[in-house]
Amino acid sequence: MQPFRDTFKHKGRRKQLIGELTEMGIQDQRILKAFDAIPRHYFLDLAFDEQAYTNMAFQIGSGQTISHPYTVAFQTELLELEKGMKVLEIGTGSGFQTAILCQLGAKVYSIERHQPLHLKAKQMLDFFKFNPSLFFGDGYKGNRVYAPYDRILVTCGAPDLPQTLLDQLKIGGIMIIPVGEGAEQKMLRIQKTDASNYSTQEFGTFKFVPMLERTVKNTK
Ligand code: SAH
Repeated sequence: MQPFRDTFKHKGRRKQLIGELTEMGIQDQRILKAFDAIPRHYFLDLAFDEQAYTNMAFQIGSGQTISHPYTVAFQTELLELEKGMKVLEIGTGSGFQTAILCQLGAKVYSIERHQPLHLKAKQMLDFFKFNPSLFFGDGYKGNRVYAPYDRILVTCGAPDLPQTLLDQLKIGGIMIIPVGEGAEQKMLRIQKTDASNYSTQEFGTFKFVPMLERTVKNTK
């Protein structure tokens, strides 16, 4: 791991980003505080150090990208998270979103299908002394062992709504998932109303890396 330095410059840029997120409509102060507490540049290659607090996505290896800060904040706000909730995240990626969820007091289970990313995120989250359960495997399968979840957050674009994940959501629970087959997805907020029904709300169009299927066994 690179030696981390959180300088006045980084802190200043972070405050500026938080201002931008507020202007873009993020209102939950707990989320804005979490963005202040977690240095995003730690999750990025040194090459992106200067730009880490711009509202942009960057390469994180294995052909994947860290989500835009606004997207992370927006998805987190839609989750309506409360401390102690059990959250299943699909697409650990850099681990930045995972860290935000941990900072907000969630009990996080996160699955990543690229092993190098899974291992790097594990190191990062250990560094922060967070203790999420991280799995290398196929998010389509979710993780039945710890189900049902209060919240499910999908951070890659799904071609459709995966039934397995719906099955692992608590009744009354919320799933935030970008759904769409092309380059763009609709951000959906699914609330499970009973064992076999759910309601859906739409929250605009986003661009995510695709959720990919892979037959690997889910391991820690
Ligand atoms: N929250 C992450 C988002 C990374 S991009 C961040 O901000 O860093 C989405 C991630 O989803 C990628 O790392 C990709 O490898 C992962 N992914 C794609 N399909 C998946 C699947 N079926 N199961 C688990 N992870 C998947």
